[in-house]
Amino acid sequence: MIRIGCHLSSSNGYLAMGKEAVKIGANTFQFFTRNPRGGKAKELNLADVEAYLAFAGEHGIGQILAHAPYTLNACAKDAGLRQFAYDTMRDDLSRLKHLPEAMYNFHPGSHVKQGEETGISYISDLLDRINEHQYETVILLETMAGKGTELGRSFEELARILDSVEDSSRLGVCFDTCHVFDGGYDIVHHLDQVLEEFDQVIGLERLKAVHLNDSKNELGSHKDRHEKIGEGQIGLRAFANLVTHPKLKDLPFYLETPNDLEGYQREIALLREKAGE
Ligand code: FE
Ligand code: FE
Ligand code: ZN
Repeated sequence: MIRIGCHLSSSNGYLAMGKEAVKIGANTFQFFTRNPRGGKAKELNLADVEAYLAFAGEHGIGQILAHAPYTLNACAKDAGLRQFAYDTMRDDLSRLKHLPEAMYNFHPGSHVKQGEETGISYISDLLDRINEHQYETVILLETMAGKGTELGRSFEELARILDSVEDSSRLGVCFDTCHVFDGGYDIVHHLDQVLEEFDQVIGLERLKAVHLNDSKNELGSHKDRHEKIGEGQIGLRAFANLVTHPKLKDLPFYLETPNDLEGYQREIALLREKAGE
């Protein structure tokens, strides 16, 4: 059985997300650690976490993914913004101690015309400082579409970040299908080659999660506009290949398509069917 879920709103807590996941046929989910546009995280409710963990155990939910807010830019030009990125990440990771099997995903950041070199060194510096605190949570860098000065637009850029971090043993990569396609990797016609390239440049052992999104725009567009599964330029057949690919099928899949809960429920059922369930 594939591990699949979608992005859920965290505003009603963990147990509420767990119940929602079960309702729509999911066995995992993703959520924002706080308002995606920034702001303070709500006080962690430990009773809610306990209740969620018991519920998740009973219903086979696991490998949930916490997503950092979009405002976190580890390679911002302003030192205060970089400090904010560090403080936010630390705060998120200290809360995630209570959710043992959750992973933490973040966007590497935008170098805002300082150049890739500088951007990459800021990101690896931040991760080095984070590592000093020995969090056990696995941290994922997301593959990006390359909009503006976004870093992580190519496997090479992600590899350079990972190689620059002193201890990268708890770092991985989240493969976003819309972003990778917008970044110019043809997962529609050449999925095998793309994964081969990922393996050679980054190493498949780093690949820990997949974001399943169709794309409104064509290959290499660098736009980052998600579309419903099968309604964009990637198309349903490619998603059937993705969820059944021997190198991907055991990873957790998270939908971030423009949908309400019913839409997610339909997409989960559709992809389970494509996976032969
Ligand atoms: Fe993301
Ligand atoms: Fe994503
Ligand atoms: Zn996106």
